Amino acid sequence: MIIDTTNLPDGTAIEADIVIIGGGMAGITLARQWAEKAKTIALLESGGREMEDDAQDLYAGTGTLAVDGSPDTDIDEYLTTSRARFYGGSGNWWGGKSVPLDPADFAKRPWIKNSGWPMSRADLQPYYDRACDMLEISRFDKDYAAPQHDGRPPLDINGSRRVTSLPRDYTRVTGRTNTDHFENFIYGFTDAANISVYLHANVVDFNMNTARTALNSLGVVGTDGRRFAARGTTYILACGGIENARLLLAANDRNNARFGSRSGALGRYFQGHTTIDKERSAKEHGTLLHFSNPPGSLSLYADRAPGAPHAVLGTTLEGQSHYRSGAFTVTLGLDEERGETDEQALRTTASRIDQAALTADNDQGCWCYFMTENLPNPQSRVTLTEAVDTHGVPRVNLRWEYGAADIDNLERSVDAFARELGSSGAGRVSYPIERGEIAGAMGPSRHHMGTTRMHADPAVGVVDTDLKCHDANNLYVTGSSVFPTSGIANPTLTILALTLRLSDHLQEKLGA
Ligand SMILES: Cc1cc2nc3c(=O)[nH]c(=O)nc-3n(C[C@H](O)[C@H](O)[C@H](O)COP(=O)(O)OP(=O)(O)OC[C@H]3O[C@@H](n4cnc5c(N)ncnc54)[C@H](O)[C@@H]3O)c2cc1C
Repeated sequence: MIIDTTNLPDGTAIEADIVIIGGGMAGITLARQWAEKAKTIALLESGGREMEDDAQDLYAGTGTLAVDGSPDTDIDEYLTTSRARFYGGSGNWWGGKSVPLDPADFAKRPWIKNSGWPMSRADLQPYYDRACDMLEISRFDKDYAAPQHDGRPPLDINGSRRVTSLPRDYTRVTGRTNTDHFENFIYGFTDAANISVYLHANVVDFNMNTARTALNSLGVVGTDGRRFAARGTTYILACGGIENARLLLAANDRNNARFGSRSGALGRYFQGHTTIDKERSAKEHGTLLHFSNPPGSLSLYADRAPGAPHAVLGTTLEGQSHYRSGAFTVTLGLDEERGETDEQALRTTASRIDQAALTADNDQGCWCYFMTENLPNPQSRVTLTEAVDTHGVPRVNLRWEYGAADIDNLERSVDAFARELGSSGAGRVSYPIERGEIAGAMGPSRHHMGTTRMHADPAVGVVDTDLKCHDANNLYVTGSSVFPTSGIANPTLTILALTLRLSDHLQEKLGA
């Protein structure tokens, strides 16, 4: 059932066994797992069915992108353009690019400070498989460096074990396309007798018990200022990578809670993703790849149709260990992204690759962009400002750092990749970006990770390995805020996998 709080009397008590805060990709994934089960579910969503300016404004705040060696950039607008505050969340806008984290991303890498997940890729693989099924894409269980894929051969970098081909795919389950896949995803479960989705239900308060060890209830405000209380035995916070931290920080201020108090990690370690590339000009060439012995077809790297997995090049754990670098990928550019059609782009790419050396005055080589892992850094963080939103909740300030260590890592990674390609005779890399030009070469993605990081030790993390808050027995957090490191994978598939894992944990603990 879908209930709009504008139709509820002031003071209505919302009661359910499990209360989910946030109706985005994560909250909806969780709720779907409980449809037709014995437990009752209340899903509280701040927005309505469509975007509304008043609701979207609750996301407004201040932001700075601090890139070492460049002047700080004001990114206030990023806070409202990189996330959507209505039912379906940013799933209404997402590109649908679905990518699992690599095995290397989960590893404790001694040369990367604060790295290591409390689980491996193999541990998460069954949940990735289920997440792929939900998103109606094929499972990421093949080796993309192996010569298969329906006649689409991977590039051979002379058998290098340091550079490999990594898979990506696009789902149709997104509000961006004009299909019913997303409608089914967000509404297909809401008729179940045990599910109540509340729209225009803004959670503003986390009322704790007197010992401050568990949540007693949530304070909820409707768009017209009507107030409600929501009570359950178990609560799940699923409001996105920035808002999860904002709400817990606000609860520490407003409700005398102590989330993250033992680690001081709440709001810190914010990580984002950004592409880095430079367009060629008449005088200079841009970021380019030239392959000396290209395979007959590059379609494994160029095809980007939904449901047909494609690949990028990236460093393996062995490569990262050898070069003391973090995750790094190179995506071959479709010139479609620069205004050509699919077919033209493929033809252009193929003809460039068939030709010889990279020089500034010819048009050879394949445009590409680079991505490096944004390293976990406690100074890159979400804090609260003095300003408050219309419901009195402090607005957010985001300081996103891409520090000297990130730039060192980027340059080391490009160098490593170029060495692997060059020494094997497979090709050449052009990376004509000076250190001070990096800020201008960045294309920030709308991925927000790390602000409620997961760690078994309350002195280090905000949530434990089951995603339970270290500082509240009955509150769990799901979403990219729990990622200890960000890899280079677009985060939503991993958000879904972690949420499915959380759901199984709760079904085991509470009974379904
Ligand atoms: C333009 C764009 C393109 C993207 N492309 C990709 C892509 O190709 N691949 C990829 O993996 N990711 C992509 N992303 C990121 C992706 O959309 C997010 O990772 C994903 O949607 C996060 O899901 P979530 O449920 O954790 O958070 P959200 O989708 O942000 O959902 C949070 C929900 O909580 C609600 N909420 C917030 N505060 C409150 C409150 N106080 N009370 C009640 N409810 C509240 C919000 O209204 C929202 O519905 C993109 C994002 C954008 C904006």
